[in-house]
Amino acid sequence: MADDLLKFVSIDQKMPEKRKAEERVGDFDEVYARYNIEGAEEQASRCSQCGVPFCHIHCPLGNNIPDWLRLTAENRLEEAYEMAASTNNMPEICGRICPQDRLCEGNCVIEKDFKSVTIGSVEKFITDNAWEQGWIKPITPRVELKESVGIIGAGPAGLAAAEELRKAGFQVHIYDRHDRAGGLLIYGIPGFKLEKDVVERRTGRLEQSGITFHLDFEVGDEAGLSELREKHDALLIATGVYRARGLKVPGVGLGNIREALDYLTASNKVGMGDDVPEYNDGSLNATGKNVVVIGGGDTAMDCVRTAVRQGAKSVKCVYRRDRENMPGSVREVQNAEEEGVEFVWLAGPEAFTGDDVVEGVRVYEMRLGAPDATGRQAPEPVPNSSYTLDCDLAILALGFEPEDLPAMFGAPELRVTRWGTVTVDHQSMMTNLDGVFAAGDIVRGASLVVWAIRDGRDAADSIKKYLKEKARQVA
Ligand code: FAD
Ligand code: SF4
Ligand code: SF4
Repeated sequence: MADDLLKFVSIDQKMPEKRKAEERVGDFDEVYARYNIEGAEEQASRCSQCGVPFCHIHCPLGNNIPDWLRLTAENRLEEAYEMAASTNNMPEICGRICPQDRLCEGNCVIEKDFKSVTIGSVEKFITDNAWEQGWIKPITPRVELKESVGIIGAGPAGLAAAEELRKAGFQVHIYDRHDRAGGLLIYGIPGFKLEKDVVERRTGRLEQSGITFHLDFEVGDEAGLSELREKHDALLIATGVYRARGLKVPGVGLGNIREALDYLTASNKVGMGDDVPEYNDGSLNATGKNVVVIGGGDTAMDCVRTAVRQGAKSVKCVYRRDRENMPGSVREVQNAEEEGVEFVWLAGPEAFTGDDVVEGVRVYEMRLGAPDATGRQAPEPVPNSSYTLDCDLAILALGFEPEDLPAMFGAPELRVTRWGTVTVDHQSMMTNLDGVFAAGDIVRGASLVVWAIRDGRDAADSIKKYLKEKARQVA
């Protein structure tokens, strides 16, 4: 083993090649290339095989990272894949879009002196390679069980739960309001972070595994919660959070002021060959426009970088705190800057100007004041500091909240928190309704893909126990 590992002293960290900004702004393809076999094996060999692996502790899925790094370094790639897949339903997706600097890689012990092992990129390599080698096959359960489980929402939480339940032999039905499965993986996150065939390869495999997808199926419209409860032996709510946070300033009702997710969904649909009237008529298309995106999270980063790729005249990101205090990932801010996005730090929107459609965003300067209850310095406006930015398209990326599920599902008996997230027993993930479970953003609030997968897996475990117990009682 020693020959293949512990090479962090002699081998430098090397990320997969990153395409040059001038090239990547011309398309929606991923920014980072993939390791070749030699590159992946070499980078995996940098791991020091820690006795207490902090990378593993800080991975929400508890991935056995040192083990699959060792197997990769030893060229045992099929075993590496099996090990990676044993704790993660979509390792190649997490390898692409997890904020590794805050999770596994940020906690790698060699990070400080030698720069971390490139865990995410190796994880992506292992699983992309497994797909290409034909090692990833549809699921064939050892037994077919008669019980059926209904899952509302085909995002990462719903898909991870579906896979685990199908492996156990349950009849799984997924309901989603969209025409494609994947949730935010397909219609939120842009192709330059996650190409869409990577997502469709996963959902296609689940379909081939006997999972039934009911697409264009809005729960609350096509069927209420009680109908689905009658139809299935257990239900999982994995609907994510979709109510966009608004802004209350003068002029916010003008034309060409749009919500981030409408803008990103349209762009993703166009990328997949759909005809999108609001893109064609220019209302959800940044081409030739001065674009101002308001917000500082990952959604805002995805919007500014999409606008650059659509050929906007200028793209500005207005955020009320400074670079050090923005929620978006450091890597994404850097990518956006390389691609020509201008950040207007410490600025808050005061009003939108224009007659029918927006022509400008009046902003005031902010400064960071005393820390608030969360310990973050609260931004406060600087008096008499307003100025106006030219704007033909304003995009609001201020975060998401849950929709009113009890009303939407015709189920006032479903208990939610004061923020609208679904209340669950955190041991079992069951809601206050017998046999109805919940997972992902609709329980946590807006979070990460890797946490949604974790929740989906945990919920599947609880559903299996619940149905086993129910069958025992009947017997
Ligand atoms: P979702 O992915 O939201 O899926 C929920 C599904 O439920 C959707 O398909 C929806 O159509 C369906 N649904 C909702 N209501 C109904 C209904 N009534 N009837 C039928 N179907 C319904 N996370 C990362 O880790 N890395 C990133 O880089 C990243 N980038 C992001 C970029 C954007 C623009 C956004 C918005 C989020 C990003 N996230 C990222 C967060 C991540 O996408 C979410 O945390 C994750 O997708 C949550 O998974 P989920 O399964 O709970 O919900
Ligand atoms: Fe790191 Fe995410 Fe992979 Fe876990 S799932 S090892 S946090 S990239
Ligand atoms: Fe390897 Fe870093 Fe994890 Fe240690 S913390 S086992 S060096 S990847």
